[in-house]
Amino acid sequence: AAENISKILYPEDSTPQGKALRLEQQYFFVAASIQDAIRVFYPGEENPDLTTFPSKICFQLNDTHPVIGIPELMRVLIDEYGYDWDTAWSITNKSFNYTCHTLLPEALEVWPAKLIGELLPRHLEIINKINEQFVAELGTKTSDSAKIDRMRIVTDGEDPQVHMAYLATYGGSHVNGVAALHSQLLKDVTLRDFSDVYGDKFTNVTNGVTPRRFIRIANPRLSALITEGLGTDRWLSDLDMLEGLVPLAKDDEFVKKFAAVKQANKVAFSNYAKREYDFDIDPNTMVNSMIKRLHEYKRQSLKILSVISQYADIKSGKVSADDILPRTVVFGAKAAPGYKMAKLTIQLINNVARVVNNDPDVKGKLAVYYPWNYNIRLAQHLIPATDLDEQISQAGKEASGTGNMKFALNGAMTVGTLDGANVEIRERVGAENFFLFGMTVDEVEALYAKGYEPKSYYEADPRLKQAVDMVAGGTFSEGDKGLYEPLVTDWLNKDYFMTLADFSAYMDIQGEIETLYREPLEWSRKALLNVANSGFFSSDRAIDDYLRDIWETGPLGE
Ligand SMILES: *Cc1c(COP(=O)(O)O)cnc(C)c1O
Repeated sequence: AAENISKILYPEDSTPQGKALRLEQQYFFVAASIQDAIRVFYPGEENPDLTTFPSKICFQLNDTHPVIGIPELMRVLIDEYGYDWDTAWSITNKSFNYTCHTLLPEALEVWPAKLIGELLPRHLEIINKINEQFVAELGTKTSDSAKIDRMRIVTDGEDPQVHMAYLATYGGSHVNGVAALHSQLLKDVTLRDFSDVYGDKFTNVTNGVTPRRFIRIANPRLSALITEGLGTDRWLSDLDMLEGLVPLAKDDEFVKKFAAVKQANKVAFSNYAKREYDFDIDPNTMVNSMIKRLHEYKRQSLKILSVISQYADIKSGKVSADDILPRTVVFGAKAAPGYKMAKLTIQLINNVARVVNNDPDVKGKLAVYYPWNYNIRLAQHLIPATDLDEQISQAGKEASGTGNMKFALNGAMTVGTLDGANVEIRERVGAENFFLFGMTVDEVEALYAKGYEPKSYYEADPRLKQAVDMVAGGTFSEGDKGLYEPLVTDWLNKDYFMTLADFSAYMDIQGEIETLYREPLEWSRKALLNVANSGFFSSDRAIDDYLRDIWETGPLGE
């Protein structure tokens, strides 16, 4: 049944048939939503006055997937309700806003005009007219013709392409990114030309997560302790109140209760993992989690290479038994069905887990688990039990992240790069309560410009060389040197996301992490300060930001 979901509901989009199905799905949901909005807000009216549409309704385009809604609303207004183009455009423009969720250019959808024309000929006609109007408007705003060319919604030439992010930016009133750094990079890089011309449209809404699901339901023990500490449960709908826990971080008795909650959660997770997956997780080890979609930019490779290096060090006796901090590493991830490199990384992690967990030399010191079918239910069990979470994307690639927020609010310590909302989390919880490592956005850009050679990092750090050589040499493929060849070749020759360049810094910070973990009271104090200072990352605050800055309406009842 799960296979059918990927085949039919969320198909691989690497084939033309898959692409066409995606567009059909996007159009289906968008057309239904627009009809529904008219039905709900103009009930029983045969000739509704749709000029009032933007005062009643706002479509917040959640990434580029529903952007076909812009030409669809134009079509409905013009073809079905008889409005002229300019009136329809004014209504449409005021009704849409666009939230961008990425910085990866390949994730900003670009549809071949030919494909749109085959499925939705009227929409292509409307998109072309929007593009003509746009190019003419740009001509009144700038004389830079190269810039106008770069900004075209429909590219010129043989096989024209439709830039859905550009259509969304021009077609709506506001554009926002989902973390401060992300919104800045949108303006400076991804949509730079647009922010030059339409600067007023751009704003930021840092993401948030709901405290009802991710604290109250997921972590009842911590919820009870927070309520005890604050003397009220009103924090559940006013998460800034968590700041009231800051003074309690000085109270050793409270910090010990907080540590006891984490320990109880680890025992509960161990039982859950035994029941659901038949895993034998030792709740007296550090629980170190990396759960998120499998993608090269998120760098699960960096984590597994470090695990391999730790495995090698323990096995070779390089670290003495007394110096080993017992660790359980848990990965959770799904990959898009057509994403070959991600699938191979999943295979590698599972094979590392098999080898490590069956090696008597490292028993009780290092264990690796990959629970299958990673989903929100597993997340709700694992996050409250995690001591250390991994937010190690290449700087400048993670738009926001929300896993990072869930972990901070559940009293995990984070090891992370200066990327996405990590930046704001670190600012709020304090640099001394966050394990920062790795290159910055500027350093990444400088290294691309200079010419990045991953092999030089492989040659320079013997820990890295050993880990890569073990993968290449068949340690995790029963001697088969061919299986991981595509991964190894990529690491050594391309490594677009600079996993190898950040490896040494990542390994070095493990020392700091383990030193702190050996001081349980100090670790827990810092983890508690993460909880106390993360109230900003509530989805309630994010929705307030949308209400105030984008939808320009107050909350209900005001
Ligand atoms: C929160 C969450 C995510 C997002 O995680 P990131 O670490 O921010 O990428 C993905 N999947 C599930 C099931 C989640 O709960």
